[in-house]
Amino acid sequence: MGYARRQKKFPVLLSDIMRKGSHICPAKCKNLDVVDTRGINSFSKMLSFDKRNLGNQKYQAGKCVEKLSLTSELVRNKMVERISSVKSIHPSVLDAMRVVPRHQFVDPALAAKAYEEIALPIGASQTISRPTIVACMLSHLIGARNLPLMQVLEVGTGCGYQTALLSFLAKNVYSIERIKYLHERAKQNLRFMSRPNIRLLYGDGSVGVSKASPFDGIILSAAGSTVSPLLRNQVAIGGRIIAPVGVGSMQRLLVMERVTVSYWRENFLDEVKFVPLRTGVS
Ligand code: SAH
Repeated sequence: MGYARRQKKFPVLLSDIMRKGSHICPAKCKNLDVVDTRGINSFSKMLSFDKRNLGNQKYQAGKCVEKLSLTSELVRNKMVERISSVKSIHPSVLDAMRVVPRHQFVDPALAAKAYEEIALPIGASQTISRPTIVACMLSHLIGARNLPLMQVLEVGTGCGYQTALLSFLAKNVYSIERIKYLHERAKQNLRFMSRPNIRLLYGDGSVGVSKASPFDGIILSAAGSTVSPLLRNQVAIGGRIIAPVGVGSMQRLLVMERVTVSYWRENFLDEVKFVPLRTGVS
């Protein structure tokens, strides 16, 4: 895609520019509303490689990088501010949301919408939930417990955004995804964050991950008609499961707390709309 066309299409993604190998003149960066800070280092390197664009390069590159980080940070902070007004959102969840760049987990074409209060497609007919729902689920996963949680399981890695947030709330995060394409994409998306405490698995998470159990928390990103005993048995006493439960458009968020081996405290919350929990892999 040529520079002239890009000029009209705001905001432009740095990762997109880099991926397409475009030779954008750094001197013209000020015209672009670049919202992606990924690869700033490599971008700076790219600028210094591109001999044709080297006029006044230090000044321009500095200006460009400054603008890049500012744009996404400001929008992200606005999103967090908005979410913080919602009752019972845990402050640590807000802290994590402040540092995880949500726009880098969605398709570059949708990055400008990443901080809006909407669900977005992530490929393979799946969606990432709107930010407030993610914040709400994570807050319920924590409950009144001290952080970090020790071991958590996410069923439905999707694009890996919620996984990244979890890595700031728990010591060990296991996340399982049944769609190979999304599993690979999450791997790629998470690479730049270099979180050492995330383990991504490819498989059917409806049966849990018994070898890593017991978990202090299990969070499901897809809706089943119930929460299976297999998953329940992998939760530690005092641990929690957060899951959308129901069929079709009749879903509610369920918070389950394992009080004793056989007694669970259950609390149904708001109506939600999640993709279905499926079995097997694809
Ligand atoms: N929290 C995710 C949302 C992903 S959407 C994010 O931040 O992007 C829900 C995901 O659950 C989809 O990727 C879907 O493939 C996955 N899923 C559905 N059933 C599953 C199962 N049995 N095991 C693992 N993943 C499953």
